[in-house]
Amino acid sequence: MKVQTEKEIKDINARFDDLLDHCAHITSPEEIKQIKKAFQFANEAHMNMRRKSGEPYIIHPISVSKIVASEIGLGANSIIAALLHDVVEDTEYSLEDIRFHFGDKITTIIDGLTKISSVFDKKSSIQAENFRKLLLTLSDDVRVILIKLADRLNNMRTLDSMPKNKQIKIAGETIYLFAPLAHRLGLFTIKTELEDLSLKYQNPKIFNEILNNIKGSEQERQLFINKFSMPIKEKLNEHNIKFDISGRPKSIYSIFTKMETKKINFEEIYDLFAIRIVFDPNPNLPEKVQCWNIYSLITDIYMPKPERIRDWVSTPKANGYEALHGTVMGPEGRWVEVQIRTTRMDEIAERGFAAHWKYKNNDQSESELDKWLKRIRELLETPSNDAHEFIDEFKLNLFSSEILVFTPKGKVITLPMNATVIDFAYEIHTEIGNKAIGGKINQKLVPLSHSLSSGDQVEVLTADNQRPQKEWLEYAITAKAKLNIKNSLKEDIKIRIEKGKNILDEKLKKINLRPNSRIIKKLITGYEAVNKEDLYLKIGEGIISLDNVKKVLKKNTKNKWIRYWELTYSKNIQNSKKLSEQQKKNPKIDLGKPLIIREGIDEPGKNYRIAKCCNPIPGDDVVGYKSPDETIIIHSCKCPTATRLMSSQGNLIVSAQWTKHRILSFLASISIQGIDQIGIANSITNVISHDLNANIRKLAIETHDGLFEGNIELYVHDTKHLNNLIMNLFKIKGVISVKRTEAASKE
Ligand code: MN
Repeated sequence: MKVQTEKEIKDINARFDDLLDHCAHITSPEEIKQIKKAFQFANEAHMNMRRKSGEPYIIHPISVSKIVASEIGLGANSIIAALLHDVVEDTEYSLEDIRFHFGDKITTIIDGLTKISSVFDKKSSIQAENFRKLLLTLSDDVRVILIKLADRLNNMRTLDSMPKNKQIKIAGETIYLFAPLAHRLGLFTIKTELEDLSLKYQNPKIFNEILNNIKGSEQERQLFINKFSMPIKEKLNEHNIKFDISGRPKSIYSIFTKMETKKINFEEIYDLFAIRIVFDPNPNLPEKVQCWNIYSLITDIYMPKPERIRDWVSTPKANGYEALHGTVMGPEGRWVEVQIRTTRMDEIAERGFAAHWKYKNNDQSESELDKWLKRIRELLETPSNDAHEFIDEFKLNLFSSEILVFTPKGKVITLPMNATVIDFAYEIHTEIGNKAIGGKINQKLVPLSHSLSSGDQVEVLTADNQRPQKEWLEYAITAKAKLNIKNSLKEDIKIRIEKGKNILDEKLKKINLRPNSRIIKKLITGYEAVNKEDLYLKIGEGIISLDNVKKVLKKNTKNKWIRYWELTYSKNIQNSKKLSEQQKKNPKIDLGKPLIIREGIDEPGKNYRIAKCCNPIPGDDVVGYKSPDETIIIHSCKCPTATRLMSSQGNLIVSAQWTKHRILSFLASISIQGIDQIGIANSITNVISHDLNANIRKLAIETHDGLFEGNIELYVHDTKHLNNLIMNLFKIKGVISVKRTEAASKE
């Protein structure tokens, strides 16, 4: 058992004094007393412990507290909790001991910290479910996560003494979770340091290379920065602005990412540094006006690059960042980024919102951080979402940079990069998302899958009969949109199953039957459903009509043939117009004799099917092809496959013809073109769904240069139905052409 040496005690006390020096913002003597008490308590508790480096353990909690106090700017409770953060986990003291000495508030924070430790420190990899718990803790008290970040930062700073494999694991976790978390909380400085340190341990060679390059080019860079800043200094001084101007190189990690993503080397990165102007604002003028004023003074000297202005003053980033960024042409024709901030904005930018809380009370419920926490909480509270899915979606939201888009009324919506119209729709309101059919960006129609860019003003077009579609999941990227779509799809199917069940029950009641398992079984076979749910669903969707239910059920009587439609065929295509006699047995195909192919429950096996390549519908000219397995495949006469078969295997071709039954629905697809106009998507869906009562399976509309092009897949009864529809679509103002396209997409 080692005790602390004289020298160590001296060092420990010096470090604690240094911590107190950084607690200048804590003015209450009572709080200072508690901080001292916490130090003594922790020192006592960790007395016999040492870190891997050999130094007394207490050095670690003191360092963490110092980060909490000076780098994040938190108050007394957090400083106390940071001093005590490893006591419960690593010593014999319990949470109750903490409660006894330091009260409930501190205990809650320590409890949260101990729980997080069990997530990260004991498992070999981060468990999704545990991460979710971590975030639940986060939403309880954000201080827990801030102290945890300080803890991680100190561990990263002292990672040298750890064995290599531990270094890699800890660095990996840091870049995977802690750096993005720090970013999300607006702790820019800490985020940058965590990233750089992770790179240092994960990829030491590249880290050192970049570091040396930065050092090597420092003198030249400093000269350039001086040359660039000189006229700005003069100008701002002329205008009596109190400011500080500095040029700082970008972080090693961000240079590394740039080299990686752009596949360039160090020398090719032109924006290695940014010029930062931090000024004391005049309290009588809006900060925004003053930022723009400085920008304008700078552009009197250097030519601006207009498309590179980033105004985070009017609309701060979701993590609270505020500043005005612009790029100007500096000496030697080099583009230079200039960041303009007030001292307050600088404080927030460097230390995050927490620093800001120091000055303002927590009742600022509309702050961006609170909004973010609210979103996290919403996600966490949504039941039935799988933990792995959650972590993926959450991480996606953490990692991607953000875009800012606007509602028609000018409200700003923050979305992750690559978000689409459907994400935007759900961000506005779940109901708008559920009913969305397309979007309008700067007067142009766009499909729901369209990726948004910062600055877009987006209007969502909705239709009352719209419902969330499965395809939406392919391009929705926010967790919120995905979750809502999935939930509604599940809900939707439930509703349609229920509807189908009711329709069937009603129908059976009319013929004095009650649904029992024998009847249902017969119907499942008769209508070729997979199971009971599938039968109900298809009835609910109108794919199965029950007009023939009586016949389907009477399958064993004399008059047993059920025809949804009939196909007649004869051996030669020339004979196609000759309608053959009905033959009531022998499902086996005999090409020599005319035969009616019957579809129904009485068939031992279905002996024909509709070709997927051309999807003919009743009314189309069709031919049949006898396949080796004795089924006849019905192709459209226009189908290239059919043409090929006719020329090469004429002996297996049979002519075929539809009867006029109008019972089933068939999938057809049409393309529509015209001039882009307000509400056109809406008119199209209205015609299809209301006027002609067809079921839309898929609707995609694309626009470019004022024209739109749409592809619609829908269920129709026959060609007459389809032709009517096409005629009506033609009547829509702006529509130039409507065509049936031969191939509908395969199921
Ligand atoms: Mn610790």
